[in-house]
Parts: sequence; C-alpha cells; structure tokens
Amino acid sequence: IERKHSGKDISIFSEMTALAQQYGAVNLSQGFPDFEIDPKLKELLGKATSDNHNQYAPLTGVPLLTENLVTFNARRKKPLDLHSSEIIITPGATYGIYCALATILKPGDDVIVLEPSYDSYVPAIEVNGGKPVFVSLDKDFRPDFEMIKNAVTLQTRAIIINSPHNPSGNIWTEKDWEALWQIVKDTEIIVISDEVYDLLCYDENVFTSVMHHPHLRNRSYAVFSFGKMFHATGWKVGYVLASEELNYAFLRVHQYLSFCVNVPAQYALAGYLEVFDAAANSRMMQNKRDYLISAFSGLPFTITGKAEGGYFQTMEYHNLSDLGDRDFAVWLTKEKKVCTVPVSAFFHNGQNTGKVRFCFAKKEETIDNAAEFLRNLL
Ligand code: PMP
Ligand code: GLN
Repeated sequence: IERKHSGKDISIFSEMTALAQQYGAVNLSQGFPDFEIDPKLKELLGKATSDNHNQYAPLTGVPLLTENLVTFNARRKKPLDLHSSEIIITPGATYGIYCALATILKPGDDVIVLEPSYDSYVPAIEVNGGKPVFVSLDKDFRPDFEMIKNAVTLQTRAIIINSPHNPSGNIWTEKDWEALWQIVKDTEIIVISDEVYDLLCYDENVFTSVMHHPHLRNRSYAVFSFGKMFHATGWKVGYVLASEELNYAFLRVHQYLSFCVNVPAQYALAGYLEVFDAAANSRMMQNKRDYLISAFSGLPFTITGKAEGGYFQTMEYHNLSDLGDRDFAVWLTKEKKVCTVPVSAFFHNGQNTGKVRFCFAKKEETIDNAAEFLRNLL
C-alpha cells in the first residue's frame, strides 16, 4: 500500500526502547514513567467497572469528567475559565491532534510546524492531505516570531505549538502567545496547541495555555493528556479544549473516528481529579529533574538550559564524542548501557544537533544506575 506520510516506519521512541531492551541498557529514552501510578487511581478504576460504568458514554465525554475538568482548570495557579461545552474527552493527545487536523484540513493546506517537534505531527498533517511547512526554533529552542511570520501564506491553515516543549522543556509565556496572535489575527489560521505537559512547570514558570489568550482561545484547539498528568501513559485518555464552534466541527469527525472513550477510565479520572494534588505532583517531578542534573554532575555532558517543564532534559556531549547524535545515542546504548533519544529525530531532515534527550520521569535508582554506567566513561 502506498505510504501516505513521510514519517518513519518505526518511531524513534519505539526504536530506542527496543534497542535498550536488546542491550540491557537503562532506558532514559521514551517518555514514560517507571514508577507506579497512585494506588488511589488504580482503586478508582476497579470501582468504576464494579459500579457498572461499562457502556458507551456521550460523545463529548462522561459528564462528571467534563464538569470536574471545569473545576480543575478554574483552580490552576493561573486559573482557566471554561464551560463544559468547550471540553471533549479523547483517546489520548495524539488522537486529539490528529482529529483536530482531520477536522480543519483540506488537500493542499499548509501547516506550520516548529522544529524540533514531536513526531506525530507531520504524519497526521500528511495523512489528512496537508503539507508541513517547517520553521526552526532558535538556537535556545525559543520561537522566532519573525521567521514564523515570514512562513505564513494564504495556504497556511494551521500552526502547531507545543508548550511545555518536548524535547527542550521550554514554556510559552503570555508574551509569546500575544506575539503569535499578532501574526494570525488577520488570517484564518487555527492554532493547535499541544499542552500535554501542562502540569509539569518548574521553578518560577507558570503554565499559560493558548486558552488563556482572550482572542486565540476562539481560534485554537488545546490538547491535553491524562497519561502525562497522572503518569499513566498507557491509559491513553486525554482532552481537547476549544470554542463551542470549533468543538462542534471536531465532533463531526470524532463521532466517526472513535465516538466515545474508555468509560471506566473516564470515571476513574473524574474521581481522581477531586483528590489530585497538582502542586505536589509538579514538585515531585521538579525534584526528579534536579536529581538527574546532580547525578550527572562531573560527567562530560553539558545541560542545554535546565528544563523549564515536562519529562525531559536535553544535554550536549561534545566533550565526549564527535559522533552525530544518532550514532552517539546508539553507541551510548550499546557500549555504555544508557539509552537516550537523539534530538535530530525531532527534525524532518534529521540534521545532527550534538544533543541527546534524557527522560527524568524515572525512579531515583534508575537515574543512579544510568549515572553509574556513565561514570565508567571517564
Ligand atoms: N505530545 C507530546 C509533546 C508528547 O510528548 C506526547 C507523548 N506523551 C504526546 C503528545 C502523546 O500523548 P498521548 O499519549 O496522550 O497520546
Ligand atoms: N511522548 C513520548 C516521548 O516523547 C513517546 C510516546 C511514544 O512512544 N509515541 O518519548
């Protein structure tokens, strides 16, 4: 069958995890936690199915979950006022992004993608008849609004943003959203904002959604993942926020792609939102970031800016090797038993960046093991 997209046959995350298994390496590549989810969440899932929540839910989601999301968002550090009609529960964030693109794209439409970027965006654009237009983030992985502005044409239908950013951890501020608004305000461009690491903002950084912007919120799909929120990446449930009008269009596609989402999981997530301590969760993850950084001190890696948010810390290795980042990541896995993701994998042309990405959503002992193996480099 003819390929419909230019993505890899095997994603870099599956590839590196398989390599870690093959060589018995500590896996700091793919972004998934190796610690247990909260036992309360497990109990709630069991309870949901025992309580007979086992049949289809409404198309937009279990009402208790959408209502609890309204409350949850209103209680953010920077509160987000929502109406439940602005929320759709989806089978994960990847699906939310795909379905938003399927909703808005016509053949020949352009979508601006800021690189480095998550690997699902381009295939999702292309399968839906669109064409990705690549704009590089600057050397510190920050948006260059002049370059974004120059990339806009009459064919531009959408732009995909990711904050907190995978792989760099960078976070968009109110100023960034306003700069984007100035570019799109006289166009019909839709913003698809991948905000799956919303709860993981560290130090003085405060999460600012595209939905906080008074004008952009009428033009955007913001996409979230309970997998990342509650460290249960295998649950594959997420949600999308958009205006009632954009949601209506989304539902016309969603209805025929998935219809509703795993119902016991939705009840469990609704219950868990009522007891979840978001501040403690982000402190725990910030501690993990700091643990990784201090465990790596003295090793020949240079941090490329402390991650402001998310699951990952990128590092340069020029003091260690001249290899391209892909070859370096393979070498490190095979020879030094530590598996990472080369940052080149987040660029369509695979250009060497001299950087690799470490996932710190791991137990301290896992990070200790990795640091121990890496000490043998010296
Ligand atoms: N976007 C980004 C930036 C990610 O890192 C990931 C990986 N969790 C996803 C989307 C996918 O989220 P989900 O597993 O909910 O589809
Ligand atoms: N989001 C995860 C990462 O960046 C990977 C998810 C996946 O394997 N598709 O590592």
